[in-house]
Amino acid sequence: MSTSSSTCPECQGQRVYRQGGISAGGGYAPNYLAKLGSMWRAPKFTIAVCADCGLTRFYASPEARAKLGDNSAWRRG
Ligand SMILES: [Zn+2]
Repeated sequence: MSTSSSTCPECQGQRVYRQGGISAGGGYAPNYLAKLGSMWRAPKFTIAVCADCGLTRFYASPEARAKLGDNSAWRRG
């Protein structure tokens, strides 16, 4: 799975930093993963930032991804 790689896909750099458990919004923040959380918890991101070129990637948590398939707010494609 690509989330386990520490190589930047843009510059092939090795200095990629990650932070997990970032709230994907609701409240004061934009709701990036709308309708993919539960009633009690906002969906979460893991964010990976390349220290060399600055490319920033967002990975939806497994819990949020599991809800994509049968969610009318998200279209495949
Ligand atoms: Zn990079």
